[in-house]
Amino acid sequence: MSPRRRELGLEDYVAGVVGGQRAVLARAITLVESANPEHQRLAGAVLARVMPRTGSAVRVGITGVPGVGKSTFIDTFGSNLTAAGHRVAVLAVDPSSGVSGGSILGDKTRMARLAVDERAFIRPSPSAGTLGGVASRTRETLLLCEAAGFDVVLVETMGVGQSETVVAEMTDFFLVLMLPGAGDELQGIKRGLLELAHLIAVNKADGETEPAARLAASQYAGALRYMRPRESGWQPPVLTCSARDNRGLDEIWEAIRAHREQLESSGRLAARRREQMLRWMWAMVDDELRSALRRAPRVRALLETIEHQVRDGSLPPSVGAHRILEAFGVEKPD
Ligand code: GDP
Repeated sequence: MSPRRRELGLEDYVAGVVGGQRAVLARAITLVESANPEHQRLAGAVLARVMPRTGSAVRVGITGVPGVGKSTFIDTFGSNLTAAGHRVAVLAVDPSSGVSGGSILGDKTRMARLAVDERAFIRPSPSAGTLGGVASRTRETLLLCEAAGFDVVLVETMGVGQSETVVAEMTDFFLVLMLPGAGDELQGIKRGLLELAHLIAVNKADGETEPAARLAASQYAGALRYMRPRESGWQPPVLTCSARDNRGLDEIWEAIRAHREQLESSGRLAARRREQMLRWMWAMVDDELRSALRRAPRVRALLETIEHQVRDGSLPPSVGAHRILEAFGVEKPD
């Protein structure tokens, strides 16, 4: 075994993460992602130790359809930030990446500049598991990155299923990237997505697509005007940008800073961090319960029959649910 891969103990992990050693950070994240109970225990111990150093990064969620320019944007935006002295971590929540292969961040060449930037750290989405499982591992990874001194964390999602909601919840600022040509898109766009946004940026505002980008931006601004803002006192701006040409990105960072200052001065950041911690705890309890239930031998023995009966209509779903819960030891509520 090479010395680099020698077993690390709790103290090694803590010192390495807190010291900002990227190799140790990467291995701590691997622990967090591991299904091995021993690794999970160690990961929990590492997290507990580094918790006091977490919570202060600017956490930005970024979403947009494939092709909108997320990787180009993150590469340029992140490089601007590292050039300005920040340390930037890039994470992802994409439960489908294991299935669809090299999608989100699967390939670091998607962010060619940041990938070789000493002040940046890119970690692909954990690939296996449910959205809940992927999300909880990404949250823990986020905390580890904060403890390692990354002061800006960008969390990317392609918006598969509910992942946008999950990312919006674990971050403080949710940036939605849009394509020029909003006419059609406005129809199809999920209203919920606009409600989550702290800022909408229409990308590819360059060359031939610049007029379309400006038009799209004014249409989104019009649509947003009729929506209740997600946070009182924050009307989400609609901007245009070109990730390719590095135009408009400073304005986006300015908006993120302004929002951050608002959060801090109003005391809402601290409240939000506390709320996030509680929610994370419950999300993990929910997730663990579900997998414990599916693992329980008494439940497993019943599942196939019950599922079969519910599917063919001979057992009402509610009765099936109660039988499963009963087998798991949950009393039927009165
Ligand atoms: P992702 O799938 O959302 O990560 O999108 P990519 O970053 O891979 O970009 C998709 C395509 O759009 C690539 O061919 C990029 O070169 C191109 N692209 C990204 N940003 C811009 C931009 O600001 N302007 C133009 N014209 N093209 C862009």
